[in-house]
Amino acid sequence: MSESCLFCRIIRREIPAAIVMETEHCVAFRDVNPQAPVHVLVVPREHVASLDAADDATVVGDVLLAAARVARQEGIASTGYRTVLNTNAGAGQTVFHLHAHVLGGRPLAWPPG
Ligand code: 5GP
Ligand code: ZN
Repeated sequence: MSESCLFCRIIRREIPAAIVMETEHCVAFRDVNPQAPVHVLVVPREHVASLDAADDATVVGDVLLAAARVARQEGIASTGYRTVLNTNAGAGQTVFHLHAHVLGGRPLAWPPG
């Protein structure tokens, strides 16, 4: 846990968020600035700064499996969804607590910007 980390504070319920799912290792909540009709963030309960800093396969695996569960729960699994992990600043990471974006509910262009 990190005292000042935004997502650690959401996990501790110090900052409100619309939580949609919890697993043993993860919490999933709606992005405050959604980029698609469904935009959920899946974060490990343990503070890990980014994918580059991750070393626990159980935790990373749970993030991805929870993302798939969120997509099914949100009704976007069959139409299609994107799971994105921005890693470090050049890729657009702004919150340094590992998170998977789950985006869907509209057509998603490829390649991403
Ligand atoms: P990144 O840019 O690091 O890949 O993604 C960070 C995401 O966190 C952004 O999509 C941003 O909208 C979201 N975000 C930032 N602050 C908050 C917040 O206080 N609450 C929630 N629910 N999402 C946030
Ligand atoms: Zn954190």
